[in-house]
Amino acid sequence: DRLVDADADGEDTAVEAALRPKDLDEFVGQEKVREQLDLVLKAARARGATADHVLLSGAPGLGKTTLSMIIAAEMNAPIRITSGPAIQHAGDLAAILSSLQEGEVLFLDEIHRMSRPAEEMLYMAMEDFRVDVIVGKGPGATAIPLELPPFTLVGATTRAGLLPPPLRDRFGFTGHMEFYAPAELERVIHRSARLLDVGIDADGAAEIAGRSRGTPRIANRLLRRVRDYAQVKAEGMIDREIAAAALKVYEVDARGLDRLDRAVLGALLKLFGGGPVGLSTLAVAVGEERETVEEVAEPFLVREGLLARTPRGRVATPAAWAHLGLVPPTHGAK
Ligand code: ATP
Repeated sequence: DRLVDADADGEDTAVEAALRPKDLDEFVGQEKVREQLDLVLKAARARGATADHVLLSGAPGLGKTTLSMIIAAEMNAPIRITSGPAIQHAGDLAAILSSLQEGEVLFLDEIHRMSRPAEEMLYMAMEDFRVDVIVGKGPGATAIPLELPPFTLVGATTRAGLLPPPLRDRFGFTGHMEFYAPAELERVIHRSARLLDVGIDADGAAEIAGRSRGTPRIANRLLRRVRDYAQVKAEGMIDREIAAAALKVYEVDARGLDRLDRAVLGALLKLFGGGPVGLSTLAVAVGEERETVEEVAEPFLVREGLLARTPRGRVATPAAWAHLGLVPPTHGAK
């Protein structure tokens, strides 16, 4: 339940849905992916054909689900949404595939987490729009071929490299989603503020954008918390001061670090002189599990250039000292 978690767990899905851009023009940033996708979709429409399968790779909360809905809307097609972990058996996938309508978009989130047999069924479905449904067991089992209507698979994954090459190769187009620049997040925030009917000025939006870790989902979530604060304390209008004060209450600092991130960084600097220190020692020092430090806190600290993972252990960078307002010890002065 971290405010700066990029995952949707515990998200108010109705609010999130209301803030989703509905077409490519409304979709902020990701210029490259948007331009490429625009061509793919326009060409398919001109041919009166179903669009090629699309793979979207990128970190959570960057807009993969949103983009898949836009693909369906632009193709004037219905969309079915499911995820790799929800498809445990090939039969689950066969049931979904055989009920698709012609031209339908099938969004498969976390496609890298599908079971192996389902994955193999998907190869054939993507390539030949056909599946073999196995009836019976053992030597008496028979494969009954089933024709499928043409459909567009939109697969989403956090890392395209996690996909087996035969699956990756069956996508006609792969879009890599990048973290958003602050100016882009400001646009997301202004747009969401309009939809939420809350007043915000440019500085207020910039203040929230700077703390959003390059992720629209986090930007929208922080905006909602700042809106609460503004309604209670400031007659609803959000400026820089209000945004900063609100996010101070929620312990999200100017760079988007929260309490856990700062605890890890603080221990590394204050207890271990900036490292190198082993992961286990660092975890004990902050009273967290190894995995929590490694998987929850560190990726963002590394991305921000505040912490480095070295063979000898975790090391703080000069930027880390500056960020926490501390002075690094001078080395070699005996
Ligand atoms: P996950 O993989 O965790 O499901 P996702 O990449 O599918 O995440 P979305 O659910 O599409 O992310 O987006 C999260 C939220 O961010 C949505 O509420 C959406 O409105 C907003 N959002 C994402 N991308 C954009 C964008 N380019 N412009 C405006 N809003 C965006």
